[in-house]
Amino acid sequence: MDSGRPTKLEFSVQMSCESCARSVREALEGKPGVKSLSVDVGTEQVLVESSLTSAEVQKLIESTGRRAVLKGIGGSERVKVKGHPSPPSLSDLGAAVAMLSGSGSIQGVVRFLQLSEERCLIDGTVDGLKPGAHGLHVHTLGDLTQDCLSCGEHYNPFGKSHGGPADTERHVGDLGNVVAAEDGRASFRLEDSQLKVWDVIGRSLVIDAGEDDLGRGSHPLSKHTGNSGERLACGIIARSAGLFQNPKQVCACDGVTLWEERDRPIAGPGRSKATETPSAHL
Ligand code: ZN
Repeated sequence: MDSGRPTKLEFSVQMSCESCARSVREALEGKPGVKSLSVDVGTEQVLVESSLTSAEVQKLIESTGRRAVLKGIGGSERVKVKGHPSPPSLSDLGAAVAMLSGSGSIQGVVRFLQLSEERCLIDGTVDGLKPGAHGLHVHTLGDLTQDCLSCGEHYNPFGKSHGGPADTERHVGDLGNVVAAEDGRASFRLEDSQLKVWDVIGRSLVIDAGEDDLGRGSHPLSKHTGNSGERLACGIIARSAGLFQNPKQVCACDGVTLWEERDRPIAGPGRSKATETPSAHL
């Protein structure tokens, strides 16, 4: 999906020499959706200004045989906010992340970035889905004590009916549908004018089993939930680092390196053993 307006993505990429940097540059330069690029071998950092999803950019970088970890996401323009004498840096407007998990093998990472007062970018990848459309909503409560059932209803501070993301009559949490491909992966990049990062931190994000009818169906639940079926996976929306705010190379919590970190669940059984692997040479 291409929402047109580019954002900056900051990746850590395993690069030890100039020729590695060259191959990373070649993999990205001139590709559709890639607007500008900066590669720094010393810090193993690649900064890409692009209208692609972070998963698409990561795939291009990794086509060189190198591993990449998304470290930050930021806007590509200075913003004007009413009442501020000078434009604040974009990171001041807020970034958040939700790690989705469910009872099955569904796992996802969805990032929120406030680009301006009116534009919130939502960039995500969810794996393990049935191919097809799945409703995606911000729910009121950041409560997973009964898994996704305790997340409350769609976030609806203005008492409106359920709708689609482009409607005026909608819940603020109504993000419409994301579409999973044949391999079960939904990779998406949306922009929303109603949702604000500062309003949704501490709430939850839920992906549903079925398609959201955007309030246009004949089912009694249509104007309430979009009749998108059971809640498949959910996660709490937490504040996260913006661009250049995450100097982390090694996770301080358990000694897992950045590269191992990427292939590990953030919690649960796969997390516990921080064993050395040949790929970890930071
Ligand atoms: Zn709704």
